[in-house]
Amino acid sequence: MSAKNINIIGAGLVGSLLSIYLSKRGHNITIYERRPDMRKANISAGKSINLALSDRGWRGLEGVGIANEIKKIAIPMYGRFIHNKNGNTQFQPYGKKDQAINSVSRAEINMKLMDLAEQQAKVKIYFNERCTHIDKATLTTYLEHNETKKTTQSQSHLVFGADGAFAASRLNMQLHSDRFEYSQHYISAGYKELIIPPGENGKFLMEKNALHIWPRGSFMMIALPNPDGNFTCTLFLPFEGEKSFAKLNTKEAVKQFFEEEFPDAVPLMPTLLDDFMNNPTSSLVTVKCYPWVFENKITLIGDAAHAIVPFYGQGMNCGFEDCVVLDELMAKHPNDWDTILSTYQHLRKPDSDAIADLAIGNFVEMRDKTADPTFVLQKKIEARFSEKYPDKWLPLYSMVTFSPQVRYSTALKEGVKQQAIMDSIMALPHITQKWDSEEVEQLMLAQLK
Ligand SMILES: Cc1cc2nc3c(=O)[nH]c(=O)nc-3n(C[C@H](O)[C@H](O)[C@H](O)COP(=O)(O)OP(=O)(O)OC[C@H]3O[C@@H](n4cnc5c(N)ncnc54)[C@H](O)[C@@H]3O)c2cc1C
Repeated sequence: MSAKNINIIGAGLVGSLLSIYLSKRGHNITIYERRPDMRKANISAGKSINLALSDRGWRGLEGVGIANEIKKIAIPMYGRFIHNKNGNTQFQPYGKKDQAINSVSRAEINMKLMDLAEQQAKVKIYFNERCTHIDKATLTTYLEHNETKKTTQSQSHLVFGADGAFAASRLNMQLHSDRFEYSQHYISAGYKELIIPPGENGKFLMEKNALHIWPRGSFMMIALPNPDGNFTCTLFLPFEGEKSFAKLNTKEAVKQFFEEEFPDAVPLMPTLLDDFMNNPTSSLVTVKCYPWVFENKITLIGDAAHAIVPFYGQGMNCGFEDCVVLDELMAKHPNDWDTILSTYQHLRKPDSDAIADLAIGNFVEMRDKTADPTFVLQKKIEARFSEKYPDKWLPLYSMVTFSPQVRYSTALKEGVKQQAIMDSIMALPHITQKWDSEEVEQLMLAQLK
């Protein structure tokens, strides 16, 4: 492949990984990152938020041989650990015995990816450089230094916009391209990060290898483990309404709310009230847009092309999968960037739309259904059936999370079919008694025909 000079906007998770893929194909990569170098700033990993990394993400990391490096900073979570209001807890496995999603600190994985990117001979990252716009005609990236405010320009053969959900590269296209489709949707809930610190000698105060959920109907709290023994908790709660962030405006109100809703977590959260008052409340957005490629020269990738809500734990995984697909196309069509880029957007758009919709649906599942015995029974029936007939039934969660060979768009379609079957099964009289019977099995097989 003849070497191109490529600018990437953003050294986030996807921009950093993309640079490794492109440099391994022989290109010269310059990344411009708006923020200072987080490896030099004093970031405490314990305070950073964490993300669930699953099989699509691993595939992206394995493709450039860096999965083992990331495994060192990942904690496997084998299922959901449900905390009911009455103090009862329940473990719900995500998949088969050894299948897990993995908790990784966002800062740690980003720093590691930057290190690995810079180890490539052909990658250079410039920090504090904010892209202000890109000139389509001359392929010039315009930059402004955050501190000095000095402006510079950089010309390249190709540009990738990997600058996240509020991408300047995308706005640039929106303003200067004809027939650019764009939508953004904020859900009514926001989120706030809180912390459960370690006990003595760094001891985990709850089950370490699980994703903890406190499902409460219209809202929920979750917690993911960090290597130093603490848990990052995230409260997802409507902005307005009876139980909402708007109502939690005093320490007394927060204390009362948490004692009522999350009684088992409160004793583990000694800094709860200060954290709640000091930590920001953030919003959650889905962004859909098209095209992602402009004149086969400027390309959006990761959240810049498709920001999704976090309830399927797939935003980063999907962005890493973008890199894999792009790389497969580079292998298949060497030097033919017109084909590579147009096929990339054609393939990825339906899949990113599908995971965006699945992610919205999973909010209801996590905050509401995980506490519902009917839902738990349905999952048990599906797991049993899938174990017996693996070629006939792969549960939706497993398709999305553990099956990178299944496209998100296929998973969405299959999931709809499966749910219709399960609705009829769950409506059978006495299903709680005969859920593992031959009759149920035969009915499912018949409906699959
Ligand atoms: C609360 C929450 C929980 C999540 N949990 C998960 C999870 O469990 N699993 C999962 O897979 N995903 C999760 N996600 C989604 C995940 O964080 C994103 O999908 C992922 O970060 C996207 O990576 P990216 O590189 O495209 O964008 P980002 O990570 O946002 O990186 C963009 C980079 O571009 C830089 N930048 C922005 N503008 C400019 C500019 N003008 N010039 C130069 N640089 C610029 C930014 O500083 C940043 O470094 C979660 C998201 C949220 C909000």
